[in-house]
Amino acid sequence: MTQKKRKFVGSFNRFRLILTLGLAVLLPAAALIYINFSQLRHFQRDKVLEAAIHRDFQETLAIAEKQLNKKAFALAEDAKERFPSADASVAEKEQKLDEILTNCSGFTHAFIFDGKDIVFRTRASQLEDPWVREEHDKAPESYKTWFKVEGKYFLETIRKKPRQFGFNTGAVKRKEGEAYMSTAIFPLPGASKDRVVIGGVCFDPYFLKNDLFPNTLDDFLAQKQAEESGNPVAMMLYAGDLEGGSELRPVVMSSRWGQGKPEVSRKLDNAFSGLSLGIKFQGTSVQELGEQWVHRSFVILGILSLMIIGGLVLTKHMVSKEIGLAKLKSDFVSNVSHELRTPLALIRLYAETLELGRITTPDKKEQYYQIIRKESERLTALINNILDFSRIEAGRKEYEFRETDIAELVRNTLDSYRYQVEQQGFALEENIASDLPRVFIDREAIARALVNLVNNALKYSRNDKFLGVKLYKDQSLVKLEVEDHGIGIASKDQGKIFEKFYRAGDPLVHNTKGSGLGLSLVRHITHAHGGNIEVQSTPGRGSRFILSLPLRPSMGTAPA
Ligand code: ADP
Repeated sequence: MTQKKRKFVGSFNRFRLILTLGLAVLLPAAALIYINFSQLRHFQRDKVLEAAIHRDFQETLAIAEKQLNKKAFALAEDAKERFPSADASVAEKEQKLDEILTNCSGFTHAFIFDGKDIVFRTRASQLEDPWVREEHDKAPESYKTWFKVEGKYFLETIRKKPRQFGFNTGAVKRKEGEAYMSTAIFPLPGASKDRVVIGGVCFDPYFLKNDLFPNTLDDFLAQKQAEESGNPVAMMLYAGDLEGGSELRPVVMSSRWGQGKPEVSRKLDNAFSGLSLGIKFQGTSVQELGEQWVHRSFVILGILSLMIIGGLVLTKHMVSKEIGLAKLKSDFVSNVSHELRTPLALIRLYAETLELGRITTPDKKEQYYQIIRKESERLTALINNILDFSRIEAGRKEYEFRETDIAELVRNTLDSYRYQVEQQGFALEENIASDLPRVFIDREAIARALVNLVNNALKYSRNDKFLGVKLYKDQSLVKLEVEDHGIGIASKDQGKIFEKFYRAGDPLVHNTKGSGLGLSLVRHITHAHGGNIEVQSTPGRGSRFILSLPLRPSMGTAPA
């Protein structure tokens, strides 16, 4: 009945534990993991990261375009300030335009249209280039015709712009093939608004390609990289339409562009219309990056989930262990009470019988006295064990080490047991080496360890009643062996028997009184001496406990 009830209480505790773990930890943890997983899946499906990168790329391109325009405006502005007046003589205009071409870098031609005629100058050093010469010969006429027809309207549109510049862009021919040219066109300051007076400077295609474009892009990217960490990007300026399927004709690439097409593009207007600016990551793509990120997040989430599960398993294990220990403790209390009651009842019974004076034969009396002494010895041993145990648990156990003749100690302890051992029908084999040095030990503690080992040998033997005690020196150790031919200990139990309250499942163990404290005390005592205890045992054949104590020379010579 009581067994059943206890079992019920145990499983109820376990149920409560699982319920608490489930409600307080498992559910929130599972919800957290689920939410994170579904969020990641949403990120993966809707390419949220990719979209964010694209937006960021668009912004970057807009800023880069602004910088390109800023440079072009600055150069054109500088030239504009040096322009001659529309009413100056042709010679004067030519001289001033030549000065501009010499002093301001970056231009191939400069021209001024005064409403009727055009003065068109080309950088002298470039006139040897047949393509430039052809431009020099043909361009003035076409500009003149254009300005005469549309000049007025053109000026009106330019004047509406904040910086009062218009740009004429397109492809020109050079030795290497097609090149990109941009011409800044502006109304001349000071000229009457009724007149069509126009100035202009043509950017040198070589200057654009080899200087302005690459330097601006590289400077911009270097600054961006310094300000933001993250994957470095590369940029490209190209002609042609990426979406339209026409061939992409790169004009300039920033350093480390590598291979491939731009991820995001922006059509430029203003100074460099007709060109597009493209951007991509160096050495990777947005898609790859997005996939990597999602993959990494999944892995991290997986590891975290495993850790949470591991933590839960560990917690359950720990709590189960605590519950198990609590059960062991309650078993211990009932075992101990039982163990105290039996000798006390015997002592009382025999003492009362003697008191009544009914026993007359001296032999019988002697036998009763012996029983009373033996039972009180058992009580003392048990109480000593319990007291020692509670001191150890409270951390108050102290040892008194003295220089001792351990052989004499073992012999004396066995002597007080010899009678009991032999009475129970045990063959006692004593083997104590004679050449043992004196060791530094707590006499009482070592004797108690031996008594516990001997008691166990007596308790856990069936028919083959043998007790062997051996004391010998083994290199730098003194070894004390207690051997029996008893029930033995299963190998799964051998590691546990030294734990407090632990008792093996053998029926003989269950029918024998015990507290499960003896071996845990023996181990504590041995460790306190800097020693070690081990067990060799075969179930059904017997056990051998080997207690090793260090023979430290300093111990032998230490003062008592
Ligand atoms: P107790 O003997 O009071 O149960 P111990 O701590 O002395 O507690 O021993 C713990 C357990 O180890 C015992 O319950 C028993 O199962 C096992 N044991 C100890 N000594 C022996 C032995 N000599 N032979 C077989 N089993 C033993």
